[in-house]
Amino acid sequence: MAALPAQLIDRFGRRISYVRISITDRCDFRCIYCMSEDMAFLPRAQILTLEEILAVATAFVELGVEKIRITGGEPLVRKGAVDLLQEIGKLRGLRELVLTTNGSQLEKTALLLKSAGVKRINVSLDSLDGDRFRKMTRIGDLDQVLRGIDAALDAGFERLKINAVVLKNRNHDEVSDLVDYVIAKNIDISFIEEMPLGAVDGHDRAEEYYSSDDIKRDLDRRFVLLPTPETTGGPSRYYRVSGTHTRVGFISPHSHNFCGTCNRVRVTAEGRLLLCLGNEHSIDLKRVLRANPGDMHKLKHAIVDSMAIKPERHYFDIKAQPVIFRHMNATGG
Ligand code: SAM
Ligand code: SF4
Repeated sequence: MAALPAQLIDRFGRRISYVRISITDRCDFRCIYCMSEDMAFLPRAQILTLEEILAVATAFVELGVEKIRITGGEPLVRKGAVDLLQEIGKLRGLRELVLTTNGSQLEKTALLLKSAGVKRINVSLDSLDGDRFRKMTRIGDLDQVLRGIDAALDAGFERLKINAVVLKNRNHDEVSDLVDYVIAKNIDISFIEEMPLGAVDGHDRAEEYYSSDDIKRDLDRRFVLLPTPETTGGPSRYYRVSGTHTRVGFISPHSHNFCGTCNRVRVTAEGRLLLCLGNEHSIDLKRVLRANPGDMHKLKHAIVDSMAIKPERHYFDIKAQPVIFRHMNATGG
């Protein structure tokens, strides 16, 4: 049996220490930049079981991965999600278990997540205006999400961060209000440029593109943003708001390429190991798992071999949509 390395290193010398796992493609929202209104979801048999997800997480941790983010779709709408987080939280060698959620289920799960060992939570929140929030999520209830954020604050996570996708003429005029909100809550925020993942209806990505530089310019009128080298291991460039504990991050796949320091891979709800968000290079871990039940060596081997096809970088073109046919909910954003 071939020996396996203790760490995952790709052809460009980048060490993979971070895996994002989408545990469902389903969601109780239909955000306009993420899904089409009549999104078709995968049949249950096509998505990894909770046991298979745990096997994948275990394999990565045994290959030196230190950080796992559980995401979706909306991870907290999957039955058994909290139990799964509890099991992943017990893996020896895992330093950070984190979660990305739309916040709709946080009011009832925040304490359970904390005791499962979740360290940090990212909550998506694009607007503080109930009508706008409903328009951007198509279904979401702003008050429910705000109550969820408060429940997470009460539960005492190490850090909470808001993620806001900013679209011109939808919520671009709210960026200062969102920063006021996070300062008042003593938490962080990242502003995200929309990525062209999957075909979406009802809005034109090129026309509604609002760059990180535009957002930064708007914020500079109200706040003093001090550049900081701090990182959470992700692609955000951070600033600290002078006189506060709040950090403002910018995730800018169009205007600033962050591929040179890429330390991550993703696993889709179907068990496809995606080597890059902006390319289709992938391998089918579900096939490996189902052809070799219980064989961790084969699973780890497949993961090690995948390092040979991790691309050097992504090339997003907002005008040529869709460049990538996967939607973000199937990708594990
Ligand atoms: N449902 C959870 C949520 O909304 O936080 C987790 C999954 S969601 C796909 C993860 C993140 O991806 C969210 O912050 C969302 O705003 C972001 N996202 C979704 N579609 C995107 C797109 N086309 N471009 C950029 N970010 C996107
Ligand atoms: Fe659901 Fe998150 Fe996608 Fe919105 S961004 S539709 S909440 S998966």
